[in-house]
Amino acid sequence: MNDRFNTSAGYFRKRFGQRIQKVTIDAGFTCPNRDGVLGKGGCSYCDNNSFNPSYCVPQKTITQQINEGIEFHAGRYRHAEKFVAYFQAYSNTYAPLNHLKKIYSEALEHPAVVGLVIGTRPDCVDSEKLDYLAELSEKYYIAVEYGVESCYDKTLRRINRGHDFWCSRKAIKETASRGIRTGIHLMFGLPGETKQEMLDEIDIISSLPINSVKFHQLQLLKNTVMTAEYLKNPSDFHIFNVPEYIDFITDAVEKLRPDIVVERIAGEVPPRYLAVPAWCSLRNDQLLVLFGKNLEKRNTRQGQLYRGINNG
Ligand code: SF4
Repeated sequence: MNDRFNTSAGYFRKRFGQRIQKVTIDAGFTCPNRDGVLGKGGCSYCDNNSFNPSYCVPQKTITQQINEGIEFHAGRYRHAEKFVAYFQAYSNTYAPLNHLKKIYSEALEHPAVVGLVIGTRPDCVDSEKLDYLAELSEKYYIAVEYGVESCYDKTLRRINRGHDFWCSRKAIKETASRGIRTGIHLMFGLPGETKQEMLDEIDIISSLPINSVKFHQLQLLKNTVMTAEYLKNPSDFHIFNVPEYIDFITDAVEKLRPDIVVERIAGEVPPRYLAVPAWCSLRNDQLLVLFGKNLEKRNTRQGQLYRGINNG
């Protein structure tokens, strides 16, 4: 394990005294940026199918998906006996509270499940839902992960997110203030953003009451608006190569507040979904090794250059 940055494995070990594995669930949600409430096209880079494991289909019950997820991971993670149910696909708070209660309770009733991770959009929560999650978090591990993607409204408009950064900031604060673990996703390489602007985002997110972050590089997927834009005007994009990205993430983590858990340094989709092949299909664990070596080579660690700027 790398002690130069906070990993989620380290966090779970500290909290539960054992390895905790996530099992992914598709509970059949949609998203207001796809069902017509905000728009129909979705975010310009999105193909939600690309990040759903094969055992995850909404026609199966939550319990069935958890059982199959546990089986799926059994060979790879022999030491995991406890699991968190990861509601990943689309926006997993985008339904009436009664429905949310039903599906979250079904997951929490599974004997191997110690908590929930709920991925959603920052405009898909309200005080009623957050109060309910706060109540659950007195008994279980409950984390909400918001797709923030960028701290810049110019980018959020351009990628058709359908919400601004103020909305992300508000959801993060309202979640964290209730004692619910709060995570975010941030994407690097979005069109029109310079490397310096991306690094400046680290100061901004470090000033927010988040517990964890997942970093993703932009991946150009087949049949997306983003890929069409890229093919038309590639110079508007900063597509990282591997050594450059590893160096960039090292810079980012150096600036990141020292207590934040870095759950991911890069996204991973099956190569068949990629319109523009990238990174020779390097897996996430291989990237983590490169990242660890780079931290060592530079003799640096998370938060080494954290400056405690208050943008909150
Ligand atoms: S909010 Fe998420 S699911 Fe909805 S379109 Fe954007 S990336 Fe896709």
